[in-house]
Amino acid sequence: MDKSKKLTRYIFITGGVLSSLGKGIASASIGLLLKQSGFSVTLMKLDPYINVDPGTMNPFQHGEVYVTDDGAETDLDLGHYERFLGESLSKKNNHTTGQVYLEVIERERRGEYLGKTVQVIPHITDTIKSKMKLFDGKKDFVIIEIGGTVGDIESLPFLEAQRQMYIDLGRKRVLNIHLTYVPYIKSSGELKTKPTQHSVKSLMEYGIRPDILLARSENKFSKDIKQKISLFCNVEEKSVIDVPDATHTIYEVPLSLKQQGLNNIILDKFEMEQVEPELDEFKKFVDRIKRPANEVTVGLVGKYTQYRDSYKSILEAFIHAGSINNTRVNVEMIDSEQITTENVADKVGHLDGVLIGPGFGHRGIEGKINAIKYIRENNIPFFGICLGLQVATIEYARNVCGLTRANSAEFEINDQNVIDLMESQKNVKEKGGTMRLGAYPAILSKDSLAYQAYKTTEISERHRHRFEVNNSFRDILVQNGLKLSATSPDGNLVEIIELPNHPWYVGVQFHPELKSRVIIGHPLFIGFIKAALKEHKRKEK
Ligand code: GLN
Repeated sequence: MDKSKKLTRYIFITGGVLSSLGKGIASASIGLLLKQSGFSVTLMKLDPYINVDPGTMNPFQHGEVYVTDDGAETDLDLGHYERFLGESLSKKNNHTTGQVYLEVIERERRGEYLGKTVQVIPHITDTIKSKMKLFDGKKDFVIIEIGGTVGDIESLPFLEAQRQMYIDLGRKRVLNIHLTYVPYIKSSGELKTKPTQHSVKSLMEYGIRPDILLARSENKFSKDIKQKISLFCNVEEKSVIDVPDATHTIYEVPLSLKQQGLNNIILDKFEMEQVEPELDEFKKFVDRIKRPANEVTVGLVGKYTQYRDSYKSILEAFIHAGSINNTRVNVEMIDSEQITTENVADKVGHLDGVLIGPGFGHRGIEGKINAIKYIRENNIPFFGICLGLQVATIEYARNVCGLTRANSAEFEINDQNVIDLMESQKNVKEKGGTMRLGAYPAILSKDSLAYQAYKTTEISERHRHRFEVNNSFRDILVQNGLKLSATSPDGNLVEIIELPNHPWYVGVQFHPELKSRVIIGHPLFIGFIKAALKEHKRKEK
């Protein structure tokens, strides 16, 4: 037998009662606790929808699309996993019903089922199990989050696969955790356990008995509530864990779970020895979020601002960079469509820094241009991400280089397309998964803000775009003072722009927010918040 092969244990996390209870954060928190206990861990998300990937889904409906190094467009929960675990995941960590069916149907078309009737059980469920086992022998623990809520029609094949995994591998290798909700009824002043009882009952109907219950509630709950849940749900009392709303930050969740001994309850169930997780650095990181010495207010300009999940990773990257700078980062969400030349000073003048976010389509572009002109001229720190870099280039071309018609070919095709479709995109017809996706290297020039932040000349960052700075306009931009401080290794693609005579003005073609992690953050976000802190002190004078 191969000695390097690990005995992999599986932890399934299902959700009940309602969605948005924070299953992703609970899963990521368990991942962090086990990793800090010295185990190798990975996390997987199984999404019940039929889309083949979330890449083509509207950010209003689905939140941001999270891109991995290997270019998978995934669910935003993968972001939580990477941030908490401090590791990069891949295509193997996210699977949708759509992908599973596509694979089975393609196999059927090739005649690989040899004339058999192709069915949900066993063909779909076997394919799901093969995904669940992708890390078998490679990790100590695989934590598998099943998307959706128990009782949904769509999640059924995933739950059936989970049930079979328990039968195949046994209780020493499979653990079922169920996250539910215990609502507080104000009028009677009571916490209600009935929804939890019902949701456990539905789970049992699928043949899954929860080993551990995580019960979300507004407040911590008393021993008698635990006893009641334990009795009616058939789960031992110490395995009923309450997950009260985090008062300051989601990063308190791992600490609260640890306090209730969840990590050791898990190890115990697997009949493994107890371990004390190493959480000193993480605790300091969380303490600085809760009690920072300084404060700044930055603006996040975009068109999906009513729905904060559309900018999830950016908001998390601000929290990380804030902790590292010992600073609370207040974020004002600013709808780009509302910014005019008349109101721009009111909208952004008071801010300590402005980030122009990623996006698609022409809506809100002129508002972003108004904002960038103002912050460029008034020396407010500026951070442009992807579309943010592209709009900054348009603004510079129009207002400094005198190219009054300057625009991106995404919005208007004309003779001044300073932003143009990448050569490699010109023949692309299908929409799903066809952008320039995933990690690519870039080379930084040493005399740049970017180099000051990264402290290295070679970086690798994740991308998700079709357009780029048009190389025919490079000379005129540079002659007028724009600095192209990083390009792809062959020099063909502009990756970072800067303005030397400005306190902090950086636009990037990639998505640095996708690589910000707890404790260490991301160099550019750390640099931006540091600059915002300086601006805050200047404004106070
Ligand atoms: N729409 C732009 C492009 O495709 C920017 C994309 C983005 O901001 N992620 O290049």
